[in-house]
Amino acid sequence: LSTWSAVPAGPPDPILGVTEAFKADKDPRKINLGVGAYRDENATNPDKEYLPITGLPEFTKAAVKLAYGEDSIPLQHNAIAVTQSISGTGALRIGGAFLARFYPNTKTIYLPNPSWGNHTPIFRDSGLEVKQYRYYDKTTVGLDFAGLKEDLKNMPEQSIVLLHACAHNPTGVDPTPEQWIEISDIIQEKKLFPFFDMAYQGFASGSTTHDAFAVRHFVKAGHQIALAQSFAKNMGLYGERVGAFSLTTADPEEKARVESQLKIVVRPMYSNPPLHGARIASTVLGNHKLYKEWHGEVENMANRIISMRHRLHDNLVAQGTPGEWKHITSQIGMFSFTGLTQPQTKVLADKAHIYMTSDGRISMAGLNSHNIDYFSESVSKAVK
Ligand code: PMP
Repeated sequence: LSTWSAVPAGPPDPILGVTEAFKADKDPRKINLGVGAYRDENATNPDKEYLPITGLPEFTKAAVKLAYGEDSIPLQHNAIAVTQSISGTGALRIGGAFLARFYPNTKTIYLPNPSWGNHTPIFRDSGLEVKQYRYYDKTTVGLDFAGLKEDLKNMPEQSIVLLHACAHNPTGVDPTPEQWIEISDIIQEKKLFPFFDMAYQGFASGSTTHDAFAVRHFVKAGHQIALAQSFAKNMGLYGERVGAFSLTTADPEEKARVESQLKIVVRPMYSNPPLHGARIASTVLGNHKLYKEWHGEVENMANRIISMRHRLHDNLVAQGTPGEWKHITSQIGMFSFTGLTQPQTKVLADKAHIYMTSDGRISMAGLNSHNIDYFSESVSKAVK
């Protein structure tokens, strides 16, 4: 039985629903007098009028294809409900609100410990109860896989589990593909509901396909999932607030019911999403030449970060810095949990003018060939 089988079809919006009906009408004489947008005889195309509540259709189509892959079964069956969102944050918030309203089981979401700092308030304010599962092992500066599995197995059945699809923030520690497969199996056994946060697709490995492994594996394995996507990092569209929230459903009929309710969640929050960034993203994703160029640039960004990790690691070892530094290169994505202690981060700020969060997290993307040696020496000194 689909998780969403009991979601009722909601009524169309009294005003924006008129535009939906207008757009679906094929008659050349058609006139839309529903929405309050000023137009004279000289209206241009493309315009800057309101998007539909669920956003730019070309964009959401391209976003879903990028995440799930062209050959995804629910995609081919027109069974993915999707709405554009105010970047990744807005996608998580829409997801939280939808789950709080329609998830048919206990409304508790489990977050990895630690997780992105905004996850707890987003889901709490959405009306879900927030709990944690073990994720990070301080002693190895790696994944606490045994603790993670044990916590999944001990969750009440049908709980909601938030998973970072790739490039876990703040630790930079991701499960391997083999570990993802085990996680998927446990989640299936326990009938847990997986909610993926994918804020860094392509940014981790340099390949959007590789970074979507977990999402695509879960869907192939038969899970119904929720997915929050952000185009802030991988398209450099931070301030344009481009994102998408999607849910896999049983069939096109259920997808339509779920989307009708997503509209009812979105309409009183912000009515409809911003246009400009979604237009940029859909232009890039929908044009073969631009897509290739963009993907090459994503690859360059990821590779530059990876090369900085190697250089930092090698410098620290060459300078005889006490401790084990392998995690610097095994971690992935924008962030690295260095393992530096709070007093060490304070010394770095006070003595070396180097700033990072007090948990020892650094943004690898802030290191470059000009500052990497100074940074490495300063860390080495702070640890010695
Ligand atoms: N999820 C995670 C894990 C993040 O790190 C971020 C950005 N820091 C987001 C979601 C959302 O970011 P945005 O709203 O800018 O897309």
